[in-house]
Order: sequence, then structure tokens, then C-alpha cells
Amino acid sequence: MSDVLTVAEHRQGELRPVSHELVTAGRELADANGGELHVAVISGDVDAYAEAVNRTGVDAIHTVEHGEEFNHDVYSQAVEQLYADLDPQYLVMPHTVNGLDYAPAVATSLDLPLATDVIDFSHNGSLSVTRETYGGKVEADIKVTGDRAAVTLRPTEWEQATEAGDAVVEAFDAAIDEEAIGSTVTGFEEVAGGDVDIGEAEFIVSIGRGIEEEENLDMVWDLADALGATLASSRPIVDNGWLPQNRQVGQSGKVVTPDVYVAIGISGAVQHLAGMSSADTIVAVNEDPDAPIFDVADYGIVGDLFEVVPELTAQFE
Ligand SMILES: Cc1cc2nc3c(=O)[nH]c(=O)nc-3n(C[C@H](O)[C@H](O)[C@H](O)COP(=O)(O)OP(=O)(O)OC[C@H]3O[C@@H](n4cnc5c(N)ncnc54)[C@H](O)[C@@H]3O)c2cc1C
Repeated sequence: MSDVLTVAEHRQGELRPVSHELVTAGRELADANGGELHVAVISGDVDAYAEAVNRTGVDAIHTVEHGEEFNHDVYSQAVEQLYADLDPQYLVMPHTVNGLDYAPAVATSLDLPLATDVIDFSHNGSLSVTRETYGGKVEADIKVTGDRAAVTLRPTEWEQATEAGDAVVEAFDAAIDEEAIGSTVTGFEEVAGGDVDIGEAEFIVSIGRGIEEEENLDMVWDLADALGATLASSRPIVDNGWLPQNRQVGQSGKVVTPDVYVAIGISGAVQHLAGMSSADTIVAVNEDPDAPIFDVADYGIVGDLFEVVPELTAQFE
């Protein structure tokens, strides 16, 4: 009853990194109560995904073969049946587009309280979770009443479990009601401008409103090229139509975790920080020494970007 069940996530044949983050978080939660950590792997090449998610800390992996890609009804039914079978105390799902699709349905069906977009938790006899409110300006600690709960965890908040484990892998014979499947994924299409996935980039040069005009972007493209980096931006650049939406970093854009993030002419609003503060090394270029971006930066250049950027490009070239 003190066990934890997490649900792995995959897309187009690849296990998503959040699955390994859920292993770390799930292990932490299971340890708080001396319980076991179980991982559900549903649909697609379940054997390959089970092998990929088999990391130290996992006690058992349960595979459910059904279809290839994520499906709301299949996931809802499979997770509910696994929960009923394993009887864990906590159900941990990713706070992703897919996770948000089935987590509320599963929690409602299982009559579990649901805490979403959790960025931290503690367990001292009972579970308390931390969530951001007011656009990230305030962190609220919320005590979960009752013994059991379902939570969705925000990606990139926990380290990925990396060490290979030796968990038992078992096929779970879920009784999926085909009649109840109301939708099917028929294919994937990249959205227009979906030229890069900044979420996967290791080195990002990001530009903000300080660039002033669209034509000035050329010099930032030059710097990104010289550094071998991917170009991203804050929201105003995307709102102006100067870069496509898939390059926006932040709360309403993408969460990125590169090794290096160079923020140029970006003030560091909370909604922007929400998307990049987990970068390993942050470099900021801003003419305002009091810009909040310097609060999270490891290295800062206080100066005019129209002087600093060409100079950096020349140096790196
Ligand atoms: C619900 C909601 C969701 C949001 N989601 C996002 C999001 O996903 N991503 C996001 O980025 N924002 C988001 N925002 C907007 C966010 O609040 C800020 O408005 C935005 O991040 C500001 O972008 P910026 O830093 O480029 O511009 P500004 O805040 O205008 O900052 C420009 C910076 O450039 C500096 N600067 C100006 N000229 C120069 C120069 N010549 N040389 C050097 N520095 C210079 C200035 O000192 C300033 O610090 C969201 C807002 C809301 C309400």
C-alpha cells in the first residue's frame, strides 16, 4: 500500500526523458514510506521501452501491449487496471501533453486527489507538494489530505535516473475495452516552422526584445552559427512573428535544459525563467545591470548587445 506507480512516456519510438525523471522522483517517494517503485509501460515496443526505463531504483516494470502510440482511452484503462491490481499509495504521471490528457480522467475514475504540475514534494507522514502560482511568482506548498494521491510532475525538475537496473519486467494482461476507444492517432505532422527541437539542444543562443528590429536578428544568427548553437527567443520575438513558435522558451513556450544558454537582451521575466533556469550554465548579455536575468546567470556581460554580439561572433569565428 506504500508503493508508488509511475507511468513512462514515449513518442514515435522513443522513450521520453521524463520517464527517467519519474523514476528518480518515484524512488524518492517510495523511500519515504519504505515502499516499492513500479513503472507502467504502455503501447508501442514495450520490451524496448521497459529495457530503457529499467534503472536502479525501479522494483518492477509492467508492460501493456496495445497499439503503437499514446491513446487516451488505452492509457486510462491500463493505468486504472494496474492501479487496482498493484494497489499503490501514489500514482505519478508526467505533466506533459499526454500526461495531462489521461491523468485527470484516471484520478477521477479512481477517486484520487490529483495534484498537477508539481515541482517538488516532501513526505513526513503525509504528502505535501509544491506548485507555482501567479505565473511562477509564488510557490505554494499544498498538503494532500488522505492516504493516497495522484500527481503529475513537471518535466526537468528531477534528475534523470541513469544507472542501469535489474527490475523484474512483467507483461500485464489489461482488459482493454475496444468499444470504449473513442479516438486513434493516425499520424504525426511537424507543425510549420518546426525546423528544430530546442528542447533537445545542448547549446542555445536566445534573443529577446533588446534586439529591437527584425533585421537585427541577422547578427544573432551569425553568433549562433559561430558557436554551433541553436537560436531560440523570448516571447515578444515570437509574438512579433520574427521567429516561429517552436523557438520560444518559457512558460507558454518550451522548457529547455541545454548545457549552455546565452540570453541576449532578455530581461528574465518569471515566465521566461520557467523555461530555461535548469540550464547547466547561463550567460546573460544585458545593458541593465539590475535585469533579473543576472539573478540566475552564471556569467554576465553588462553592455550594449549591438557591440557585444558582433565582438563575440568575431572572437569565436
Ligand atoms: C501567461 C504568460 C505567459 C508568458 N509566457 C512567456 C514565455 O513562454 N516566454 C517568454 O519569454 N515570455 C513569456 N511571457 C512574457 C513575459 O512576461 C515577458 O514579457 C517576456 O519574457 C519579456 O521578454 P524580453 O525579456 O525579451 O523583453 P523585455 O522584458 O522587454 O526585456 C528586454 C531586455 O533587453 C535589454 N536591452 C534592451 N536593449 C538592449 C541592448 N541594446 N543591449 C543589451 N540589452 C538590452 C533590456 O535591459 C531588457 O532587460 C508570458 C507572459 C504571460 C502573462
